[in-house]
Amino acid sequence: MPATPGRALRPTTKVMPGQARVYNRSLVLQSLYSDGPQSRADLARVTSLTPVTIGALVSELITEGLAVELGTRSAARVGKPATLVGFEPSAAHIVSLDLSPDAVFRGAVLDLAGTVLTTAEVPRNGRIGQAAADAASGLARDLVARTDRPVLGIGVGSPGVVDSEGVVLNAPNLGWSGMPLAEVLNQALDRPVYVANDANVAALAEHSFGGAGSSSQASGVLVLTVGLGVGAGILLDGALVRGDRFAAGEIGHLIVEEPGLPCACGRSGCLERVLAVPHLRERLADLSGPERQEVLTQAGTSLGIALAPVISTLDLGEVVLTGPPDLLGGALLEAASTALRRRVLPVVGTALILRLSTLHENSILLGSAVLVLSGELGVS
Ligand SMILES: [Zn+2]
Repeated sequence: MPATPGRALRPTTKVMPGQARVYNRSLVLQSLYSDGPQSRADLARVTSLTPVTIGALVSELITEGLAVELGTRSAARVGKPATLVGFEPSAAHIVSLDLSPDAVFRGAVLDLAGTVLTTAEVPRNGRIGQAAADAASGLARDLVARTDRPVLGIGVGSPGVVDSEGVVLNAPNLGWSGMPLAEVLNQALDRPVYVANDANVAALAEHSFGGAGSSSQASGVLVLTVGLGVGAGILLDGALVRGDRFAAGEIGHLIVEEPGLPCACGRSGCLERVLAVPHLRERLADLSGPERQEVLTQAGTSLGIALAPVISTLDLGEVVLTGPPDLLGGALLEAASTALRRRVLPVVGTALILRLSTLHENSILLGSAVLVLSGELGVS
């Protein structure tokens, strides 16, 4: 699928003098990536870098194949027509893995613009622990072998709590506790590897490819992923909120119903127990018409109740739901919207956008590619 690259993620660390060249290079790349082909003079203007610096950086990018000269712009102004320079999305490929589905691991090869070129999957067959890590590694190796381009890196969206070094601290479904997944894949494949929580990765995908924040100008966006579990990724001013224990957005086990149905975490009435796909489908089995609507309305209301304090505290402008549209759209979305808006101040509720994602099942694959683009090239 062709995807429109979006805005840059805000750098969260200070630029040190020695890093200036790397930083300037990513400014130029980001401008070409999000704004399309432009002349060297345009680049100097938008980046506030000198023409000499721009000239050197563009030459370097052309040598590496990341930028190409695209001929001249028809001269609207007096003087020599300017040569346009553009980003080259096929300079390298990215391998992405989505480890969030229950029954399979999914993977893809993407170009640098986020176009999915090929996909593959392996059945999980209940594998956990090292066997699950080996299965993920095997899938990545298979995908690396399918491309004839240099592989810029491997991005992985994993369930569970993942630290900034790509260690999965805790993913009960996969039997991982302190699994150094980035290191395991890096040793097996000798490529840069980036691993992050699946809901956070989905938020990156919405930011870069799903138009989150673009129509509303919202700088605060919450992306809720509903699948086997329920999790959220939060972007504030273009930066991902990770939290003190890398568990920001883990709202699946907030209790929303008392008394409620027993949950895998040992308590009962958790949001996940109400909203996660297997539980919701089970509740809907054999129901139709008004009874089905009622269950979906209840689930939506519980979601709205759980989200309201988060939206209010952070003054978020947009909420994007990713998951099966047949469950999340319609009655559920409407009930969530009503419950949410009733609970927050009118100034927050009136402008709030609540919608379904348009990225569908590729959300985590695309977001995992953003991890690599951002980590290796400084673009997103
Ligand atoms: Zn729970």
